[in-house]
Formats: sequence, structure tokens, C-alpha cells
Amino acid sequence: MSKQLEGRVVLITGGGSGIGRAAARRFAGEGARVVIGDLVSETAEETARTLRDAGNEALAARVDVTEEASVRAFVAFALDAFGRIDCAFNNAGVLGPVGELHACSLDDYEHVMAVNVRGVWLCMQVQIAAMLAQQPPHGGHSIVNTASVAGLIGSPLLPAYTASKHAVVGLTRAAARSYGRRGIRVNCVCPGPIETPLAGPLFEHAGMRETMLARQAIGRFGEPDEVAAAAVWLSSPAASLVTGTPFRVDAGALS
Ligand code: NAD
Repeated sequence: MSKQLEGRVVLITGGGSGIGRAAARRFAGEGARVVIGDLVSETAEETARTLRDAGNEALAARVDVTEEASVRAFVAFALDAFGRIDCAFNNAGVLGPVGELHACSLDDYEHVMAVNVRGVWLCMQVQIAAMLAQQPPHGGHSIVNTASVAGLIGSPLLPAYTASKHAVVGLTRAAARSYGRRGIRVNCVCPGPIETPLAGPLFEHAGMRETMLARQAIGRFGEPDEVAAAAVWLSSPAASLVTGTPFRVDAGALS
């Protein structure tokens, strides 16, 4: 069977860990050429090296998604290497402190917003400008942002994170409406709890593991690869009619 993303150039942020690393593996498995960015250059390079060792085309670079110059350099790096970008998975994110709003410091709030919202904003701005200068591939250019179920309902112990992920859903919807006629589809994935380094403090918070598990209609937590599979499908020509969608990958928790 032919691969869904043969030859497509895909940018992935937060690709040194968790969902981003699983996505890099999945995109490469579908024939994509992947450019992996992360704040931690060693982990991004480790993801890329593993993929190259398996015969895929993969490059890595450090990117801080909160810094415009860094995002511009990351996109330029991909364009220099491969001459175009077809898809982006804007996935880098942070959780921030676990606790109620009155106990969350302004610095923590601003850090969460900087990575999760400003980061997605900057990445989309630079990627879309590059995409508009190109002929869209079959099925359109695709951008998938990583939101969360906390982009759809309130999480009382994650007020800044909730605000940031609602903003990611909003940015996704606005961009989908803007660019649909110009060949760019924009969606977001909304995962439920997935055991990655980011979610550790939430799982460790008193009683949270049991509370979250009780909500999972499927009766278990998800794996990073199950979110990656959704991101790959949304990026593929098979999803050519899908744009502006907050796509839940949440074991039915919000059903
Ligand atoms: P993770 O901690 O394993 O990976 C996040 C990656 O983002 C890390 O490699 C980190 O270095 C990178 N990163 C952080 N700040 C960055 C910055 N300024 N610039 C570039 N990279 C940066 O966590 P994960 O669970 O794989 O998270 C990936 C995404 O999934 C995040 O957006 C997160 O909010 C979202 N998400 C996670 C869960 C979950 O339960 N794990 C649930 C819903 C949504």
C-alpha cells in the first residue's frame, strides 16, 4: 500500500519527547521528511537520529517557540534543507503549575501562555507565509496544533493551561476560516491525559489519577502514539474535507 505522506515535508515542534516524538515516528513511517524542533536540542537530535538509523529522512534543530527569531530560523532551516514545507504539527507545550487560579503566579501564567499560545501563533504565522508562497500538495497543506480536552472544558487545577488550550482551539478555527480557500487546512488534536513527562505532575496530584481514569470511557489512558496517529490522519489527503476541527483523542472522556 502506498504511504499517505510520501515525500511531504513536515515540521514538528516538541519533537524531542512524548507526543511529538511519537508523531515524528508516525509521520516518517508514512514516508514524510521530518524536521524536528525542540527547546532541548539533544532530545530533538536523538529523535532524528533514531529515524535516520531506520532509513528515514529526518533533521533536527533547536527551536524556542516563544521567540520569533527562533521560529523564523527553524522554518528557514526546513526550507533550506528540503525546499518547501507541506505540513506542520505545532505540538510544543507546557503544563504549568497544578493548582487553583488564586494560587497561580502571574509569571507561571505568562510562561504557559507564551509557550502554548504565543508559540502556536508564531509557528502558524511563519509556516502559513511559507505555505502561501507554494503550490499546495494534493489534499492541501495541513497544520495541526496540539490543544487538549482542556481546550474544550475547564480544568479547575489547570487554569492557565485551560485558558491557553482554549486559545489554541480559537486560533485553529480562525486560521481554518482564513486559509481554507488557499489550500491550507488547520485542525487541532485535543488529547485527554497521556502519560508523558508533561503530565507527570497532574498524574501525581492527590486523587487525580483515579478521577481521570474514571472519566475514560475506554477505561484506560492513551499512549502518545494514539495521538500521533490522529495528527497524521488529519495531515493526510484522506482528511481533505476536514478543517477547523478540534479533534478529540480522549478515550471518550468528554462524550
Ligand atoms: P512532553 O513534555 O513529553 O513534550 C513536550 C515537548 O515540548 C518537550 O520536548 C519540551 O522540551 C518541548 N517544549 C517545551 N517548551 C518549548 C519551547 N518553548 N519551544 C520548543 N519546545 C518546547 O509532553 P507531551 O505530553 O508530549 O506534550 C505535547 C503536547 O501535548 C503539549 O502541547 C501538551 O500541552 C499536549 N497535551 C498533552 C497531554 C498529556 O496528557 N500528556 C494532554 C493533552 C495535551
